[in-house]
Amino acid sequence: MTQHAFQTEVQQLLHLMIHSLYSEREIFLRELISNASDACDKLRFLTLTEPNLSAGDSDYRVEIAFDKEAKTLTVRDNGVGLTEAEAIEHLGTIAKSGTKAFIGQLGEDQKKNAQLIGQFGVGFYASFMVADKVVVESRSARVGSDKAVRWESAGDGQFATESIERAARGTTVTLHLKEDASEFLDGWRLRALIKKWSDFVTYPIRMAKEDGKEQEQVNTGTPLWTKPKDGITDEDYKKFYQTSCRQWDDPATRIHASVEGRMSYTTLLFVPSEKPFDLFERERRGVSLYVKRVFIMDDCKHLLPEWLRFVRGVVDSDDLPLNVSREILQQAATVEQLRKQLSKRVIDHLLKLAQSSDDADKAAWAKIDASFGPVIREGIVTDHENKDRVSRLARWRSTWTEAEAGRVPTGLEDYIRRCPEAQKEIVFVAGPTLAAAKANPAIEGFVKAGREVLFLTDPVDEWVVQHLHEFDGRKLVDAAKGAGDLLDADAKKALEAKAKELEPFLGFAKETLTDVGEVRLSGRLADSPACLVADEHGVSAQMEAMMRRMGQPVPEQKRTLELNPGHPLVQRLSALHGDSARRPEVADGLHLLRDQAMLAAGGTVSDGAATAKRLQALLAKALG
Ligand code: ADP
Repeated sequence: MTQHAFQTEVQQLLHLMIHSLYSEREIFLRELISNASDACDKLRFLTLTEPNLSAGDSDYRVEIAFDKEAKTLTVRDNGVGLTEAEAIEHLGTIAKSGTKAFIGQLGEDQKKNAQLIGQFGVGFYASFMVADKVVVESRSARVGSDKAVRWESAGDGQFATESIERAARGTTVTLHLKEDASEFLDGWRLRALIKKWSDFVTYPIRMAKEDGKEQEQVNTGTPLWTKPKDGITDEDYKKFYQTSCRQWDDPATRIHASVEGRMSYTTLLFVPSEKPFDLFERERRGVSLYVKRVFIMDDCKHLLPEWLRFVRGVVDSDDLPLNVSREILQQAATVEQLRKQLSKRVIDHLLKLAQSSDDADKAAWAKIDASFGPVIREGIVTDHENKDRVSRLARWRSTWTEAEAGRVPTGLEDYIRRCPEAQKEIVFVAGPTLAAAKANPAIEGFVKAGREVLFLTDPVDEWVVQHLHEFDGRKLVDAAKGAGDLLDADAKKALEAKAKELEPFLGFAKETLTDVGEVRLSGRLADSPACLVADEHGVSAQMEAMMRRMGQPVPEQKRTLELNPGHPLVQRLSALHGDSARRPEVADGLHLLRDQAMLAAGGTVSDGAATAKRLQALLAKALG
């Protein structure tokens, strides 16, 4: 016997498995059966090119047995098996970066940990929730009967392996159950668990009948997607989603379609209702590829565009060759066609939900938008083929949705439907939070003029509007950028006249505030004294703050300070400017106006210490 230490992450995971009081520990059986089924899948796939690997036994199956006396439970398969090196590698480390990230999230809070375990398949290691010793005996389909392996561990930081003889290919996992896990030494209980968690596993899962003599198949075994739709209940779909797609939540919606024609395929796809923690791992995909019912691969990247990475399910193609490899997948025109059709199908389905007046559809869409809205909007930038239709899925809060309780986030089509005749643009403002966006003074004039303003509060949004430019012929306009063309001809004239009158004051302001590009009178303010606006192509205050936080160089840009000529503070400052003795106070006032405008727009002040000093002086004076 050779002793090996588990990788640190595995030790952490095992510690947790053993010590957390996890109520749903029965899932260990699902995990072991999934592994057994995966092992059969892998071998079946290999035999497409190396038929002799199955050595005459292609009756793939999983067998469950228990021994009341010995207090053991075994899960056995005739799949691909493991060599000793593979056993050390796969049953001693965690390869998937997702799992590592998962362990990183585990903390002291047992309840939270249990939830996380629930949403994450912890696989083989789940055995240690119910067993104090686990023995794995396995023989790889590639080696002879004298090269099998025995692996065992008590889950205490290390495991041992040795070479053994084993006649049959495949793997037997034997759990020596803990005292408090004897409930699993019961045929009825086990059969119920198999039905509950593993009913749609493609291979027969067999167990001895209660008389102990004959074996029977416990699971239904037909892949769900091959069944006619009208024979499938919501409950069946949910079970499939949770067990085969290894999800923990309820699906928000599903697409089940059989297509025949130039392309023939069946697909069963789900959109989850909850966000997975690895949503921003762009390489992650959740769709498995089958060819003529034969499993080909998990997480197939080529079937959906990157932004649809939250979709889960299966695609079963009749057109691809069975021995399709990853290289072929990358090039095959059929795959490209399939991807186009699937993307279209998913987008159509989402559009239908988003536009539906049915309550259930609305609820489903609300969940999808809440969980995946920002990722969907990413598609506007990254999915060139479908840009237009994806942009119809984007939803934001706006001055309209906020005006009345119960209004849900709005899309661009609805925005345009509400637009007054005269309005030719779509107005938005960006901010780090909804409250900050709503409070941005730059929107005041637009609101006063009856324009609806969209609130873009996700970091992805500014990137999105930079690429969208316009929608159905209307330009997207940032309320806090550019000249803000809101005024009619008369109002413009009046503003120009006022600017002429205040020219010396405005000139003084520009000289004083060296970091602003221009100082002018504003037509976009109603209640606030001042706002800062970027030029048409500049970066918003929020984006600038984000770049600074991320330690990125912030592009050199000077904002324009706009002053509200109708505001008493501005009027007072310009009057004081006439008295040259009071100019230092005017200068301080201008600095503070500029700083508070920056803060109001969700930005940060560049010299906090100077701002604080001016505020203190002001307070001291005000308080006498
Ligand atoms: P996952 O199945 O999510 O990859 P597990 O921890 O359950 O993670 O299993 C780790 C690895 O061990 C599997 O990826 C597989 O390579 C191997 N393995 C587990 N069970 C079996 C089995 N019954 N037959 C062959 N290989 C197995």
